[in-house]
Amino acid sequence: MRTLFANGWVVTMDEHGAEHPHGWVLVEDGVILSVGAGAEPDGATDAERVDLGGSVVTPGLVNTHHHLCQTLTRARAEEADLFTWLRELYPLWARLDAEAEYAAARTGLAELALSGCSTVFDHHYVFPRGRDGLVEAEVQAARELGVRIVASRGSMDLGVSEGGLPPDDLVENLDAILADTELLHAQLHERGPGARVQIAVAPCSPFSVTGLLMEESAALARRLGLPLHTHLAETVEEEEYCRELYGCTPVEYLDRLGWLADDVWCAHCVHLSTADIGRFAETGTGVAHCPTSNLRLGAGVAPIRDLLDAGCRVGLGVDGSASNERSDLGTEVKQALLVARGRGGPDAMTAREALRLATRGGSAVLGRDDIGVLEPGRQADLAIWAVDGLELGGAEDLVAGLVLSGPHRVDRLVVGGDVVVRGGALVHADEAEIARAHRAQAGRFTP
Ligand SMILES: [Zn+2]
Repeated sequence: MRTLFANGWVVTMDEHGAEHPHGWVLVEDGVILSVGAGAEPDGATDAERVDLGGSVVTPGLVNTHHHLCQTLTRARAEEADLFTWLRELYPLWARLDAEAEYAAARTGLAELALSGCSTVFDHHYVFPRGRDGLVEAEVQAARELGVRIVASRGSMDLGVSEGGLPPDDLVENLDAILADTELLHAQLHERGPGARVQIAVAPCSPFSVTGLLMEESAALARRLGLPLHTHLAETVEEEEYCRELYGCTPVEYLDRLGWLADDVWCAHCVHLSTADIGRFAETGTGVAHCPTSNLRLGAGVAPIRDLLDAGCRVGLGVDGSASNERSDLGTEVKQALLVARGRGGPDAMTAREALRLATRGGSAVLGRDDIGVLEPGRQADLAIWAVDGLELGGAEDLVAGLVLSGPHRVDRLVVGGDVVVRGGALVHADEAEIARAHRAQAGRFTP
């Protein structure tokens, strides 16, 4: 089964940054066969032909940090720093069960799909005792909507009585966490190109996890060949906390635990020294940049230009919907450009560099070489953007126009050759029904 996506402005995000303003993408069995411009390829004669009418085609976007469950608790603790915000939200999150998680995941994943995102990493770390099936609920939601998910078995084992931030009744036992991680890996993790469901190991943060669990998590992940993720250097309060408890900065702490490595990516990384950036580059440690969330919580702006110049892997994340109420990755592309320029001047980031973070950058951060780029052999994950609306009139450079006038609802989203969004609407689910079911569940999470 072959499909030719013809007459598009194809933004490949390959290593040379090739673009084809009059281009095409030929797909067979969910995989890209060839990409080019001008005359249509030989193999296209018996293919189904989809005329894109000049739309911009990018790789499906890749989200590298989220907490889908937080769609249930939006717009709370509106003027709080991270620690105050967390203390207000932990007791509400303690009410989470599989039914609520499913409704939350469907909402966040639907929003992301409609923003052109084909692969979603979710950092789930809230596991109230006795509530099973939370990760499974997210995976089910992703399968139904048709997007790829990298779901994490996150964790917290450092409660307030031991000097941590979360309440004691929301932390778990180390052995139970590791056993459940191993079980989820056995049940859900797919290997190889085109994987639709993967598992990552993701203890929550230096202020909610013991050093022992960090080390044991890394050992387990490395034994199973799973990627590692955590929050790091998000706020000045976190740095103070680490200095007090561990006698060093958050990055030094992670380094000590063997956590700076090329199978690790960290969310936020707002407060990094020049030496920290050097260690990230030396070790291949990746970064999930979440600019809207960092602004929403007043945490600061991450030094992304410096990280990119040092050669670090950087992707974008919407972060959880309690600290960025909108799960729209296109918004983060524009926001990444704006905050980089706010910090470093007008040439600190181009529109294409910002888009690169959300595509090629995201796949590199997740350790995947099968998505994030439009080139032969990669998965046919395509985001197709209409360019005939009000907001792109007058834009000759449609790629820059798309980034600078964002966010946009994607016209069509293709995941592994399957159409997931068509005409700006979900193909496999009803958006209005998802919103209704979500509101019913969210009603259980009011203070
Ligand atoms: Zn987060």
